[in-house]
Amino acid sequence: MSEIMEMLIRRGFLWQSFEIYGGMAGFIDYGPLGNGLRRRLENLWREFFVVNERAVEIDTPTVGIEEVFIASGHATSFTDVAIECKKCGRVFRADHYIKEKLGIEADETVEAVKEILESFDLKCECDGEFGEPTPFNLMFETKIGPGKGKKGYLRPETAQGIFIAFKRLADYFRDKLPFGVAQIGRAYRNEISPRQGVIRLREFNQAELEFFVHPGEKKHPDFHIYADDEVKLLDKFGNEHVITLKEAVEKGIIANEVIAYFIGKTRRFLLQAGIDDERLRFRQHRDDERAHYASDCWDAEALTSYGWIEIVGIADRGDYDLSRHMKYSGEDLSVFVPFKEPVKVKRRKIVPNMGKLGPTFRQKAKKIAEVLESMEIADDSIEAIEVEVDGEKISVSREFFEVKEVEELIHGEKVTPHVIEPSFGLDRITFAILEHAFDKDIVDGEERRVLRLKRWMAPVQVAVLPLLSKGAFIEKSIEITFMLKKEGIFTEYDDSGSIGRRYRRFDEIGTPFCVTVDHQTFEDETVTIRDRDTTRQIRVHIGGLAPALRELLSTDKDISEFGEVFKE
Ligand code: AMP
Repeated sequence: MSEIMEMLIRRGFLWQSFEIYGGMAGFIDYGPLGNGLRRRLENLWREFFVVNERAVEIDTPTVGIEEVFIASGHATSFTDVAIECKKCGRVFRADHYIKEKLGIEADETVEAVKEILESFDLKCECDGEFGEPTPFNLMFETKIGPGKGKKGYLRPETAQGIFIAFKRLADYFRDKLPFGVAQIGRAYRNEISPRQGVIRLREFNQAELEFFVHPGEKKHPDFHIYADDEVKLLDKFGNEHVITLKEAVEKGIIANEVIAYFIGKTRRFLLQAGIDDERLRFRQHRDDERAHYASDCWDAEALTSYGWIEIVGIADRGDYDLSRHMKYSGEDLSVFVPFKEPVKVKRRKIVPNMGKLGPTFRQKAKKIAEVLESMEIADDSIEAIEVEVDGEKISVSREFFEVKEVEELIHGEKVTPHVIEPSFGLDRITFAILEHAFDKDIVDGEERRVLRLKRWMAPVQVAVLPLLSKGAFIEKSIEITFMLKKEGIFTEYDDSGSIGRRYRRFDEIGTPFCVTVDHQTFEDETVTIRDRDTTRQIRVHIGGLAPALRELLSTDKDISEFGEVFKE
């Protein structure tokens, strides 16, 4: 196990789920510190992608009914190809196994896998032969209600909950594009053989934003904020660019401004969360790996001990999702977009002749007339029109209607919005932050491990330590601990072991500041603040402690701005 993984488990960041029963691949527990860090990541995401975005956040069920996933395509296409060893019975995800053993990218089709297995005579790790490759659907199936019940699935992404609530959402926004809808929550994928520890989970946390735009206006009103940001891009042909987002759009490397906007915003978010810029890049999907409905797709990738891993996917999904749900539900999921000025158009309208329709079609006459009135035709030489009333097809000949040309004022049009989706895997980001923050240096001639988390991300923000573990020191320290907690600062108290060991303990979990109660505290009501990264210290009055810490924790300010540094 890597040194960092050992530390994450020992110190309470991440644990194997179901550990006392032998564990199960693809599930992790967040211990107190990991949970704290992921919550902070969620809140930072919310700040970027909801509060400071033209967006709202909703929360929909994690269980979905079958209809949703038939419409979305997941029920038929959300599959990976599995290969099972005839000898030992182990099952592998074919493309991963082929990549691992042969170093080649296999197409995710049964035929492609079969061909590779045969031509390379690829065997199992136990030297057994593989059986026929088979598609395996990654959704967890469930049953809703008793008896035969209703078929359902655990959602494989949070996005579908947003698409199927679109009618309500468009109403909420009074049809005014563009608008965004976010959701943070659990997603479930029954991964075939998750062998990549915390990277490939069967239950994980997503934060997704669906940003709906007019299909003809793929622009973001706030693009200027990120237009001049320089980003590292790896395009679909494998070319690297270090280029501003504005240039990348102008040169057609990024398909449109909305995607570029979200690449910029995602990058700033990830840096703020503690991802190292040197170990971050944006990789464009090749034409043969991109979903058929997506017109452009970029992954934010972080370099970790597992290599470059996808931590965010940003895709232009067109109108695929809304159109599919429109088709399968029969509901209208378009929005009405008014024109700047009403437009005059000439139309050929059908005017029903009720005097004749009535006696001939009797009780159906009114419905036939309604259908006729709602129709438009291209030429007036038409002899008969077929209409459908209550499921019955009726041919209505010319004697029952007239065709008139009328001029009408059109105020707008119905459009099915396109959606740009930035989709974040919070678990992978959390893990990448931890790896990027993990560091070692030499302090007082000894090696120390330090987690250089951004101050605002640290799960324990301040530790209060009595210099000596006795009487008045303890009492004063506990009093300060509660005072800081009341101020909303996540604070821990610790009196076990030497002060040096306690500093090391909090360095290792990334606590940015330690406050120490020492002898001088009882003379002049001052304490020391020690900075994790530099180990320098200042002395401040207890009365000014909370405001100083609050400012230090929300900025990169140096402690020397709050007191004289007395220990380098
Ligand atoms: P996708 O919908 O496949 O583009 O996934 C969106 C994001 O979710 C990815 O960028 C990953 O960060 C994350 N993700 C996808 N699958 C998993 C998984 N099995 N375990 C953990 N995170 C995942």
